[in-house]
Amino acid sequence: MASNLEFVRFPAPDGVNGWWETLPPPPAVTTLSSELRYDWVVVGGGITGLCAARRLAELAPDATIALVEADRIGRTTAGRNSGFFVDLPHDISSESYSRSVEADKADVRLQRHGIDYVRAAVKQHNIDCDWRDDGKFHASVNKKGHAALAHFAEGLARIDEACEWLDEAAIAKVTGTSFYQGALFTPGCSTVQPAALMRGLAATLPENVKIFELSAVKGIEDQGPNKVLSFASGKIVAKRVMLCTNAYAATFGGHPNGLLPVYTFASMTRAMNPEEVQRLGGTQSWALIPADPMGSTVRRLINDRICVRNHFAFRPNLEVSAADLAKAKSLHQRSFDRRFPMLKDVELEYTWGGPLCLSVNNGALFGRRDDGVFEAVGCNGLGLSRGSASGKLIAEYALGQDNELIRQLLNQPHPRSLPVRPIADVAVSAAIWVKEFSAGAEL
Ligand SMILES: Cc1cc2nc3c(=O)[nH]c(=O)nc-3n(C[C@H](O)[C@H](O)[C@H](O)COP(=O)(O)OP(=O)(O)OC[C@H]3O[C@@H](n4cnc5c(N)ncnc54)[C@H](O)[C@@H]3O)c2cc1C
Repeated sequence: MASNLEFVRFPAPDGVNGWWETLPPPPAVTTLSSELRYDWVVVGGGITGLCAARRLAELAPDATIALVEADRIGRTTAGRNSGFFVDLPHDISSESYSRSVEADKADVRLQRHGIDYVRAAVKQHNIDCDWRDDGKFHASVNKKGHAALAHFAEGLARIDEACEWLDEAAIAKVTGTSFYQGALFTPGCSTVQPAALMRGLAATLPENVKIFELSAVKGIEDQGPNKVLSFASGKIVAKRVMLCTNAYAATFGGHPNGLLPVYTFASMTRAMNPEEVQRLGGTQSWALIPADPMGSTVRRLINDRICVRNHFAFRPNLEVSAADLAKAKSLHQRSFDRRFPMLKDVELEYTWGGPLCLSVNNGALFGRRDDGVFEAVGCNGLGLSRGSASGKLIAEYALGQDNELIRQLLNQPHPRSLPVRPIADVAVSAAIWVKEFSAGAEL
């Protein structure tokens, strides 16, 4: 007999998502309010759930599929990130993103699989989400950062991946700021307006997928061949369930300590006016990652806004406070002022946070959790490309397919458990603090 599941944490207000706010008004919402039957239910309308539902529908066009999302699709983490579809190694717990040759090659294979899948959907349906295959810059601000980039470049050479060095003047020509001492350009990264992408993916799902938003699953009861999903009002009786709830999975049984809900935060400026754009200089759109994974990610957007992301906070209860957001905004302001002294009058208009789902050993959950219940959970900070891949592949696996990438995901380590709380809380928060302190100049 499979076990029942109870969901105890749900998306809570965590700032104002600039990506969502700068889009046209959202489409009308359908919530679940009666008792319905489906062959499949995908829980979670982030990138993982959207790819899982799409792939299920493609492979099983006669199946009935429900995609249920606690909030609005595009307003939660998958629509709140910095929009980098990273193809290369990107271990944010390491000093320079790289791991071993074998692990790096496996990561690249998987991530490109995910990116290709989403890119194909964007192209096929003309999804308006500013999808760009323009690559990314890893920029350093001092010798320590340069050494980390050199280490990263060596790792890329070992796996035969191209990169190109830019000196101080060359990166200033791109960004308009003389803040960076140099950069490494890697061509394979794609970038998007993440909220627009999530909305677009939802709007173009095959017809056998029905979406319910503002519909949080409260629990799943195992009734032999059926699973009964309960909501605030209404139920779904389903034959099979796919859990794609990322950090929110950290709070139900089985793996209580291995999945770590760690928030990161971003701010977006108002749109610059033509005179400010000219003062800044540089190119109209670029995407930059810090040499130290704990530093600041910065993007200049096609709509003349700038988006800054930094700061991490372990929040096991999946809630951030007003003080968390105020602290994040002041760190973003500082980072913005250091980089763009010529834009003193350009305010940060929106600030928000969102939970990543990390684990100390880069482990994630993929596969069959229970009879009729599958899971693809644990983005380790790279949900756009990894989530796309694991969402697509969990659907294939659940339908009985087998391939090398499915095996790769099945064989990845499970998130390693930590000591019980509150010891784990103190240990994780202290580790984040030390890493952020060490990133210093890159913030
Ligand atoms: C500021 C910021 C910047 C980031 N930058 C990047 C980046 O540039 N590139 C990158 O790859 N990653 C980035 N990330 C991480 C990325 O956003 C995540 O890895 C990604 O969203 C994971 O996708 P997911 O679909 O697995 O999970 P989520 O996006 O978290 O989606 C899970 C969904 O499940 C829903 N849900 C939870 N519980 C329930 C329930 N009981 N019932 C129904 N629905 C439920 C949630 O509302 C949520 O929509 C960033 C994150 C943040 C916060």
